[in-house]
Amino acid sequence: NHQWRLAARPVGLPKTSDWSFTSEAPPVPGPGQVLVRVLYLSLDPAMRGWMNEGKSYVPPVGIGEVMRALGVGRVVASNDPSIAVGDHVVGLMGAQDYAVLAAKEATRIEPSLAPLPTWLGVLGMPGMTAYFGLLDVGQPKPGETVVVSGAAGAVGGLVGQIAKLKGCRVIGIAGGADKCRYVVEDLGFDGAIDYKAEDVRKSLRALAPKGVDVYFDNVGGDILDTVLAQLARGARIAICGAISQYNSTEGVKGPANYMSLLVNRARMQGFVVFDYAARYAEAARDIAVWIAEGKVKAKEDVAVGLENFPATLLKLFKGENFGKLVLKLAD
Ligand code: NDP
Repeated sequence: NHQWRLAARPVGLPKTSDWSFTSEAPPVPGPGQVLVRVLYLSLDPAMRGWMNEGKSYVPPVGIGEVMRALGVGRVVASNDPSIAVGDHVVGLMGAQDYAVLAAKEATRIEPSLAPLPTWLGVLGMPGMTAYFGLLDVGQPKPGETVVVSGAAGAVGGLVGQIAKLKGCRVIGIAGGADKCRYVVEDLGFDGAIDYKAEDVRKSLRALAPKGVDVYFDNVGGDILDTVLAQLARGARIAICGAISQYNSTEGVKGPANYMSLLVNRARMQGFVVFDYAARYAEAARDIAVWIAEGKVKAKEDVAVGLENFPATLLKLFKGENFGKLVLKLAD
């Protein structure tokens, strides 16, 4: 069983020396536990936060511990009647070949309904994030203008598609012409802004002349500040993430334009997807129906080989992933 363990707390982007690659005999499941062969690992921006010391919404990964990672795998041994050998499950597997999970913390999935990586994407944690962050926190109404950053990513791509389904006008913000073309031509957004090539403020004024009613923020930093300056009255801002700040060595940059919240009677609210766990089934049902009806598209970016875990994680922070980033370990 090969494993990636956290060797040191990174400063800025994680370096090779922040990791150690170890090998040991596969673990043995105890009562009520299952042994899983990990097939795909989910690479998530949140991992960077889990590597930091200090209080967050989950405890940090300890030095020397296997890196925390969601994954999907096949059960190879089971000590619990609710899960059989051969079942496929999603859960916190860790960056390793084999994982022992408590049966109650392993969610059984039906691989005939969607490819395995999709269960880590639109049918998994990023899907739940998009669904509840947009609908519960953003509360979009038909005819409103919704802006989403990280628009071509796992969460952002679904946010825009759901907002379209709810009758909104949707503008995506993403890095590069390819990603902008994708969200408009493939996902049906009404417009896109390439923040790497355009003046976001000018483009946003042109695309959202009456202001932004809902902003779903995945990136924070300057883009958040720019959108704040273009709010409509009564706007809702869902703070999902701030990936532009996760590797910052100079502290997090706060929004200078926050008084726009006052002027526009607007609301800015953060959320953590885990708080919606009791309602995941409801969201997954809706999203699965939308996929079946061809109204929602799933896109995954599949890298291969556990040995490539540290390098693959960095793709998220360089914008090199296109869709939900996963790492394939085995068939
Ligand atoms: P993505 O698939 O969107 O991948 C990350 C993307 O972020 C990159 O492809 C890149 O896209 C963009 N990015 C990277 N660096 C920057 C930067 N400096 N400025 C602007 N954009 C940047 O990841 P996810 O969909 O998995 O996650 C999106 C966000 O949602 C993250 O902030 C994550 O932390 C958050 N999240 C929050 C949850 C919650 O419960 N609140 C749960 C899950 C995710 P580009 O090429 O366009 O720059």
